[in-house]
Amino acid sequence: MKRESDALKTRFTMEAAGLDARALTRLRVLNCIRDAGEASRTDIAAALKLSPATVTFVTSGLMAGGLIEEVSAPDTADTAKRGRPRVALSLTKGSYFVAGIKVSRDKMSILILDFDGREVVNLDVALATPQMEPLALVLAIRDGVMAACVRIDVGLEVLAGISIGLAGLIDSETRFVHWSSSLTERNVDLGALLAEHLPCAAFLENDANLVAKAEQLFGEARGLSNFMVVTVEHGVGLGIVLDGRLHRGERGCGGEFGHTKVALHGEACQCGQRGCLEAYVGTSGLLRRARKDLGAEAAGSVAALVDLAQAGDAKARRILDEAGQMFGMGLSNLINIFDPERIIVAGAEHRIAHLHSETVLAQVRSSVVKVDTALPEIRVHHWDDLMWARGAAAMGIEKVSALKVKALAQ
Ligand SMILES: [Zn+2]
Repeated sequence: MKRESDALKTRFTMEAAGLDARALTRLRVLNCIRDAGEASRTDIAAALKLSPATVTFVTSGLMAGGLIEEVSAPDTADTAKRGRPRVALSLTKGSYFVAGIKVSRDKMSILILDFDGREVVNLDVALATPQMEPLALVLAIRDGVMAACVRIDVGLEVLAGISIGLAGLIDSETRFVHWSSSLTERNVDLGALLAEHLPCAAFLENDANLVAKAEQLFGEARGLSNFMVVTVEHGVGLGIVLDGRLHRGERGCGGEFGHTKVALHGEACQCGQRGCLEAYVGTSGLLRRARKDLGAEAAGSVAALVDLAQAGDAKARRILDEAGQMFGMGLSNLINIFDPERIIVAGAEHRIAHLHSETVLAQVRSSVVKVDTALPEIRVHHWDDLMWARGAAAMGIEKVSALKVKALAQ
């Protein structure tokens, strides 16, 4: 078995907040087993640099709690010689399920994973309207998760946690939504509604943070401690990971890259202010500008706008060039402030194809403060909606794991 990887150490620091030393050790052992699939006690002791006695104590606690189980492993030459079957540990099959949900404008993507991180079912549910009252959204989430459970012939009670990604200014600790483009109201205690209407632990997170989480666990940021993920869909989001941990800000409102200002008295933004980056770069803003300058036909999709520009339409070209320059300025501001190892631009290919152009890179190069070393790497990662839900589910698994080890008898 491989030694504890950098990615595992990074993950460990992200989820460890609020656990005592004993619970932390349990969590490390649980994550070690999850990452390996199966691991013997000797493997775990070597990977985590723990004494055999500690591993025996911790694994017996995890077994008593139903989180892990013993499985017989194939004989090695060594065990065959000693005549004793080799015993490995794995997560208890089917012990817990976790749902990850990404709420978009027109639909909800739901993914249920088992405790091992394996996909059990995924389902897209159409939303009647992009903005909902808080209670209506919570009930839609409950109905959507129930529909996903029906697909696999189980009830909601099998879920140990539901992890929800929402665009906007969200305090994930208190599950308080300061503002979200998915809600008709500001300042919503969504946590109280989730607790009232969902049968299990529910976690809430800004959706760009979930993408950062997914990039860190199984994407383009594995092994990195300082990186940013810029998400581009209807709006523009940012997940900031510093020293291995998500940086949310004091009020949980940090990372609102889309609402950083790029123009005085500029375009109106969906947040109610003017001159925000996403009013020029996000799909909604881009198409609104296309509608204004070119008419409804050009504003059907980003791809249609790109086609028009490539066919020589000067107005379409100008809108896209301006978006690229604004985006390049935004990326250079991130580099000037954070100096990350890597920036990952994440989104569906049809939304971001025009944002890794020479126009964008030239703007970045000309706007970053001059230092005689290479620029941080900028990578593009094409995502589909399911990957947002995967990030939500991955975070859900981590939070459920922390709750479970915390709840074990001391
Ligand atoms: Zn704004």
